[in-house]
Order: sequence, then C-alpha cells, then structure tokens
Amino acid sequence: MSDVKVTLGSPVTVLYGIGPEAARKLAKLEITSVYDLISFIPRRYNDWSDVSSIDQCEEGQEISFLGTVTSAPVRKGFKKQSPVAFYVSDGSGRIELSYFNAPYIIDKFMVGDKIFVHGTVTYYGMHAQIVNPFCEKAASADELRLVRPVYHLTAGITSNMINKWALTALKLVKNQIPDVIPASLKERENLCSAAEAYEYVHAPATIAQAAEGRRRIAFEELILLGIGMKYFMTTGGPDEVAPVVVPSSGGLSSEAAARWKTVVGNLGFKLTGDQRKALTDIQQDLMLSKPMNRLVQGDVGSGKTAVAILSMAMTAIMGKQSVLLAPTSVLAKQHYDSACALLAGSGINVALLLGKTKASLKKEIKTQLKEGEASVIIGTHAVLTDDVQFNDLSLVIADEQHRFGVKQREKLLISRDGTDGVNAVHNLVMTATPIPRTLAMVIYGDMATSVIREKPAGRKPIMTHFLPYTDGDDIYNVLIAKLRKGEQAYIVCPRIDDDSETVAPDEYYFDDFFGLEGQAPEAVSVKTMKKRLDEHGISEKYETAVLYGSMKETAKLEVMERFLSGEVKVLISTTVIEVGVNNPNATMMMIMNAERFGLSTLHQLRGRIGRGDKQSYCVLCSDNKTERALERMKLMCECSDGFELAGKDLELRGPGDFFGTRQHGIPTLRAANLFTDAPLAKTACDEVNKLFEQGGEEAKTLMNNIGTMFRLRFADKMGTL
Ligand code: ADP
Ligand code: MG
Repeated sequence: MSDVKVTLGSPVTVLYGIGPEAARKLAKLEITSVYDLISFIPRRYNDWSDVSSIDQCEEGQEISFLGTVTSAPVRKGFKKQSPVAFYVSDGSGRIELSYFNAPYIIDKFMVGDKIFVHGTVTYYGMHAQIVNPFCEKAASADELRLVRPVYHLTAGITSNMINKWALTALKLVKNQIPDVIPASLKERENLCSAAEAYEYVHAPATIAQAAEGRRRIAFEELILLGIGMKYFMTTGGPDEVAPVVVPSSGGLSSEAAARWKTVVGNLGFKLTGDQRKALTDIQQDLMLSKPMNRLVQGDVGSGKTAVAILSMAMTAIMGKQSVLLAPTSVLAKQHYDSACALLAGSGINVALLLGKTKASLKKEIKTQLKEGEASVIIGTHAVLTDDVQFNDLSLVIADEQHRFGVKQREKLLISRDGTDGVNAVHNLVMTATPIPRTLAMVIYGDMATSVIREKPAGRKPIMTHFLPYTDGDDIYNVLIAKLRKGEQAYIVCPRIDDDSETVAPDEYYFDDFFGLEGQAPEAVSVKTMKKRLDEHGISEKYETAVLYGSMKETAKLEVMERFLSGEVKVLISTTVIEVGVNNPNATMMMIMNAERFGLSTLHQLRGRIGRGDKQSYCVLCSDNKTERALERMKLMCECSDGFELAGKDLELRGPGDFFGTRQHGIPTLRAANLFTDAPLAKTACDEVNKLFEQGGEEAKTLMNNIGTMFRLRFADKMGTL
C-alpha cells in the first residue's frame, strides 16, 4: 500500500480503512476520488468548546465539562443489553455517565482519569445522568478538537468516518492541490490557500475558521464551474456556423405559408403572449448562422411543448430537420402524439425513436432520418447514443434539460459532418425549473433566455392542502369523492417497495457524530399504497395501477396509455411522472411523505394536475412535524408560482445540499451557496476571463490548473447528472 502514490484523482480505496463496501457507500454521496473526499464539505458544525461545570446541569441540556473518573465503569445488570456506567466529578458536583451498546468503555477508563465530556443531561427520577456522551481523556479542552464537523451522510457512514478519512487524505495530497484563484483576487478577497482551506473545514479550531475555509472553497468551486463550463464543455466557439433556417428577407413561399397555416390551425387554442414572444425570439435566432443558444424557462403547464413543436414545424417547412429530446420514454411518446396531432395535414413526417424501439424498425427510422424523409424527430437520449445520421439536422431541443448531462448535449452537437462548412446546430433548452439569474450566467455563460410567465387562459389555480399523516380514513374518503365524479388521481410515493431507498431523504441526514442514526418515520412505498387501496376496497371499484422507473419500458408505456385513456383511475407512482405527463382529466394528486421532496419537485409534481378546466386538488401528506418540514409544506400551500418556489427551495437548502441541486440542472455544489456566493462568483469569473484574454504564463498555468480541477470536480460526473 505504502508505495502507491496517492493523487487527487486516486480512488478512495487507496486510503487505509476504505474497502469496497465503504467505497460503495461513499459513491452514494458522490465521493469516488480522494479529491471528492477532501472537497466534501461538512454541512454544519457542533461546537462543544463552551466548557461549564456539573452543577450547571439541567434536564435536556447539552453540556461540556472536564472532570475526573471517580468510579470504575461497570455493567449495571446481568443482561447483554445492560448499560455500562461510571461516575465522574469536577469539584462542583458528581454525575453518572451511562453507555448502551458500548462494552469497550469498561476497559477505556479508570478511576483517576481526567476526561472531557459532552452530552445531553437526562434525569432518571432525581438522579442526573448523561447517556452515551462523547468522552475523551484530556486534562484540558485545548487538547481536543471541539468544533466537530457534521457531514451529509448515508446509511452505514458516520461523520466521524468521513472526517477521519478526509484528514488522512488531506495529509497525503496537501501539496498537490493546484491553486485556481488568481493571486490578485486572493489578495483582494483576503482568501487563504487551498490546503489551509481544506484543513479549516475538516478540522477547524473555531467556527469562524471553518467559515473562512468554506468561503475559499466556495469561491474556487464557482470559478471551476463557471470557467470550466465555458472553456472545457461548450463546443461552441466564435467560428462555429449553423445553418440559416428561416430566410431573413423575402417572406415565405405561398406553399410554405399554407403549410404553416395548417399547423397553426391544428393548435386548437390561441397562443399566450409569452408563448408568442418565445417563438419570435427563436425565429429570429434561426435567421442567423450563429448557432442559437437559448433557454426557454416556463412554469409547469405554461405550454412549452407547443413552442417546441412550432419551432420544429418552422424548421421542417424550411426543409430542415430537428430533434426533440425528452428525459423519459413516456414523455417522448406523449410529445410524439402531440406533434402528430399538431402537424397533421402539413406534409411533415414525424419519427419517434426510443431505446426500446425494435431493431428492425429502428433501422427503418434511421434510414428515414438519413434520407431526410422524416424531418421532426422525437426521442429519448437513445437518439444520442446510437449512431444516428441526419440529412440536414439544424435544430436540437432538449425538454426538461436538467435531466441531461452536458456531455450528452455535446455529443449531439458534433454529429454534423461539417462538409458544407456548417458544423453546429441551433440549440434550444426548455426547463420548468428556473435557476437564479446570476447563477445562470455563471453556468450558461452567454445563453439567451425566453421566459414564459403567462399561463394559458381559463386555468383554475390548484388548491393545495396539508394533512399531518400518511394513512387514515380522510385520505381514502377524499380520494373516493373525486373518483365518484369520474375524475382521475395520482398518488406519489417516495419509494417503490419497502426495501428500496427513498428519494431525497433530505430531512433525515443521520445527524449524529457517533452514528446513532436518527429515527425517521417510515416512508410509504408505491407497493404499500397499492395494498392499502386494495384493502380499503378502492381497487375493486376503480382501476388502480402502479408506475415506477425500473419497470420495463413497454409496461410503463402501457400503464400510461391506460391512464391517459381513462381506463386506469388511480395511478400510484414514484417521481417518474414528475416531468411532462399531461392528462387533463387527472384532478387530484396525493403526495406521501411530502417532506422528503424538494419544493421544486413538489411543484413539478403538482404541475401534473390543473391542466384542464376542472378544479384540481393537491394533498400533501406527511408524518414529519419538524419545523423545517412544516415550513416547506406551508410554502407549498400558499405559493403557486414555480419561480418563487424555486428560489425559496435553493434558499432553504443552503450550501452543499446536493440532494436538491440536480433538480435545478446544476451539478452538485458542495461549498458554494447558490444565493449568497453567485454574485461574487460572477465577478471572479469575469476577472479570470480578463486574465485569459491578456494571455501570458500566469494565464496559461491558471488555465491548466482550472482544467485539471474542473475535470476532477465536475466534468467526469456530468454524464450521470
Ligand atoms: P409545459 O410547459 O409544462 O411543458 P405543456 O406544453 O405540457 O406545458 O402544456 C400544458 C397544457 O396546456 C397542454 O394540454 C397544452 O395543450 C395546453 N396549452 C398550451 N398552450 C396553450 C394555450 N395557449 N392555450 C390553452 N391551452 C394551452
Ligand atoms: Mg413540458
């Protein structure tokens, strides 16, 4: 082991004490390399450095004190589970320390040992004691690290373990961490060195020192993201050329105009002002040979699909091909149906390409794409991975972009052969989950944005209610009342079955430094919910079905079809229905263990109802009564603006809360706070960019360093975003 050179990029298993099992668990926290480990920033700290005395003990209070062991630890009883206990005194008083499941304590302390104790005081009748306290031999508090990091955790991994490993790793690679912050900026912003920063966050002497370290790492993280995206990820450069799709002068031929009229006639509704505006933005971009790089942000239900398909129709009428990418096959199929309806009679051929499409059919479709017979192509990312050739691909639209890795987009971009001097396509990204503007600028650089705020006319706001339980007659009665009216319902659960993991367990980090895991209420699973509906006689009267990600593609599509046709009345599912699904007759959504989902996810889920003219209801069910959970439920009930909720979501999550950032299309940020640090990051990135423009040795080294670190920190993970 010792002769292995440990580098930042080494897998965590090079470290002593991390075997394959621990590595597998760490991977769940997105820690695979040594660098991942040291840049895994604690989410908060316990400060135990405020030392008092035993006579200050009050029921329920956390206390730290120094004392002397006055009785040898003994087992208090004959059972295996009997606690081991001993007394400690400090001159002001005497208290009992009691340990469950810790037989090693018997040999750890002797009468006369000077110890430091931290724990919560409980009374057992008149008798004060501290159960399972932190306890170390020490004559003074200075000998110990009393600011204790608390990390995001997963089952089987404690903060203590991560802390130990991170410090071991840091010792080995400290001198290899390249600096990615220009000297001038470091001086102006008063930032410490990278090595210092990592020491400060994992082993701080004070809370203030931890904050200093975090700030430095956050800065670095945002520079890596901002600069890295620009220089190492985008394929676009100033000399890239995309096809001119729409003629900027001369107008349309009468035939083209007639076809466009047919398409618009098929719409069946009037576009909203914002839809119209977005479409005009896109049309103007398509008049240029500069590749379009546009983001369409619109709340759920704002009608982004129509904008996408109309853009594709425009492109097809001008004789060119376009692709619409959806994150799931269910959604791709639905877009395909919409496109077929909208383009009927216009002479535009639509093709659907999914991963599960039969080989023979796939081959046929591929020929159509190559020959240019199909001009509107809809598919999942299977379109990207297969060797699909196009005749004249000009526009690529990614729906719900946050489900795609940047790498995948990149792959499509380079699939033009470039023989005609045209090497790029126009790019349109559609998302319902907005990110703060400053951050968008860091991440997307010069991406233009069209915002659809206006909702189609005649929509009734969804009524959202909170129920403080996840099982009970009320739940089933409310459901039955809706079903009686012939309407349909979704029930969303945070996991598939009782053995599977839950989504976003962000309320339940295993919070304890010693790995005494928090007692979280059980999460309701899809299968449990199905059973309950059976038991309450609901399934007998109304067709119920389940849907989740790991089902076979064909089975998923079939269930969805039966739900859309109205045959299935209640669809019990995981968050697979989160994006895009459109069934206007579904007017009820129940979300079990709602506290386990982020606000943006809840809003996105809720966006599946309220799509027709009937009043829709969303019921949030949760047994969790922590303040944090209740605050979020309240927000959901009061606010129906996705933009506002997305902002709140990021705000409430705080730095490094990576369970939620994916929702926003942002790679995991570990140290940076999306709100407070983004403006500074913008300044920092501008400064780095200026330095690059000036050129020279310093710029070159910096560029190299940023490239190396960006790959370690972000690029290698993007494909799996
Ligand atoms: P999202 O922005 O969430 O992707 P969709 O594109 O799925 O929204 O649209 C939601 C529903 O609204 C669809 O049923 C669609 O046909 C309908 N819709 C879209 N635009 C309008 C409009 N201007 N007027 C009325 N209904 C519309
Ligand atoms: Mg959509």
